[in-house]
Amino acid sequence: MTNTEKPKHFIRQIIEEDIRNNKNEGKVITRFPPEPNGYLHIGHAKSICLNFGMAEEYNGKCYMRFDDTNPGKESEEYMDSILSSVRWLGFDWEDRLTHASDYFDRLYEYAIELIKKGKAYVCSLPADKMREYRGTLKEPGKNSPYRDRSVEENLELFEKMQAGEFKEGEHVLRAKIDMASPNINLRDPVIYRILKVPHLRSGDKWNIYPLYDYTHCLSDAQEGITHSLCTLEFEDHRPLYDWVLDQLDTPCHPQQIEFSRLSLNYTVTSKRKLNQLVDKGLVSGWDDPRMPTLMGMRRRGYTPESLRDFAERVGITKKENYIEMSLLENCVREDLDSKAPRAMAVLNPLKVVIDNYPEDLVEELEAPVHPQKPEMGNRKLPFSKVIYIEKDDFLVDPPKKFFRLAPDKEVRLRYAYIIKCNEVIKDGKSGEIVELRCTYDPDTKSGTGTSTKKVKGVIHWVSEVNAVEAEVRLYDRLFTKARPDAEEEDFKTFLNPDSIETIKKALLEPGLKAAKPEDQFQFERLGYFNVDSVDSKEGTLVFNRTVTLRDSWAKIEKAEVEKK
Ligand code: ATP
Ligand code: MG
Repeated sequence: MTNTEKPKHFIRQIIEEDIRNNKNEGKVITRFPPEPNGYLHIGHAKSICLNFGMAEEYNGKCYMRFDDTNPGKESEEYMDSILSSVRWLGFDWEDRLTHASDYFDRLYEYAIELIKKGKAYVCSLPADKMREYRGTLKEPGKNSPYRDRSVEENLELFEKMQAGEFKEGEHVLRAKIDMASPNINLRDPVIYRILKVPHLRSGDKWNIYPLYDYTHCLSDAQEGITHSLCTLEFEDHRPLYDWVLDQLDTPCHPQQIEFSRLSLNYTVTSKRKLNQLVDKGLVSGWDDPRMPTLMGMRRRGYTPESLRDFAERVGITKKENYIEMSLLENCVREDLDSKAPRAMAVLNPLKVVIDNYPEDLVEELEAPVHPQKPEMGNRKLPFSKVIYIEKDDFLVDPPKKFFRLAPDKEVRLRYAYIIKCNEVIKDGKSGEIVELRCTYDPDTKSGTGTSTKKVKGVIHWVSEVNAVEAEVRLYDRLFTKARPDAEEEDFKTFLNPDSIETIKKALLEPGLKAAKPEDQFQFERLGYFNVDSVDSKEGTLVFNRTVTLRDSWAKIEKAEVEKK
């Protein structure tokens, strides 16, 4: 999509309006603020593309900020993987890698300021009482008995909380707002709690840690964020975001703007749920190619370009919506179609012996690497007496419109000759077809043959000469329900038992011997595949099917719609 074709979604409109009005001196500064407590998923890609994308488009800057306020749940491993996923998607934070923890000192000073202004107090209610005092959606809350502690007492207690003099849960620091507010987020929310857990970056310096709502707006303000773009669940938190900034003398007051989360049919996009799949061994790991994580998608062969295109196409709105898997796959297909070299692979090989082909002859046939891109050059395919075709390209008793191989029928072998099937050899015991005896017509050689013979079917094949054996993994949707997490039962009960099919011994054309991890190909008639970067070893390649050639979702989705 070129820039002029990009839809002017509401956030673009707000930003352009702000630039016109010279708000923030016309600057656009955004941030992507993940918590390093898991790996990124396709939903995060939407947020990354939006935050980095808006900065890029409007000559601004985007911060890569870790929201690291939950020591114990966070790790370096997650941080590294998050950074590598953002980089892989094609974005660059330059020197703007920050952490909420970079501001811990400043946040502490701000808390003291709030206490001094009588806008925060130390509350000593136990957790269950505090919950009780909070009220409900229908009933207002009640003031904590500690709400009117003096500034001096609050300062002293808060300092002792940090000095480690209390146990976890004994006291918290709360903002003093309004226990009767219809917005529960404003009912004196906790802004600091005692947590005696060392922090990845600040070590054991802190015995108290700030909560998300307090931390986030102040971190935004420290960085001069102009547009703080977040998902819709934070809409009700916006009054708190604004309240904190209004009480304090911060460098600026960023504008929080919410948009709807990305949800994809037939999968789940929640770190917590994805974590369960990994923990329970229901997938091979966070980078299992069936996972909607960026690591999984990368391993499967989804390209950064296709994910960015997808993020643009799903658009930015305030409406909750589920996106069809076919939209994502179409983006992948479109991108790979233009760049993936072509190759032939036979997943379920059936041996074909060409009786009239000379025993020792091996011809080198030429085929384009990409039929629409002559600049990508040609590849060589050996042709010989024994070749393999796909088992399901042959039927003993074919229906009328079956244009592939059948007894006494002819078919063209892609980039080679027309062959005719004369005899079917079956296993004496099982009756399984184990070999076909065919003859070829030497005048029908692709490109140079003189015969005018025409056949309807063209099938792919691989010669036994230098064929490469490989494992190939085919994937289907991870869940059998469009919205596994919207059902009454546990989402895991809807895992698709057939989401992976492993083919142990596929045969590939010889050129693929040199394929490297992550290399991508279109296997003619079968789809787009890549070399698995984890399980491939020197000499034994493993391929993933990234996506089929045609939209196999359309049928499933149509059936679902009809059921409703
Ligand atoms: P999860 O629910 O999967 O744990 P999260 O929102 O807790 O996700 P964060 O690490 O806090 O994960 O997310 C970082 C940023 O990514 C946030 O600004 C969040 O709004 C955004 N984000 C997370 N999930 C989605 C999604 N499905 N669609 C769009 N943006 C998302
Ligand atoms: Mg979160």
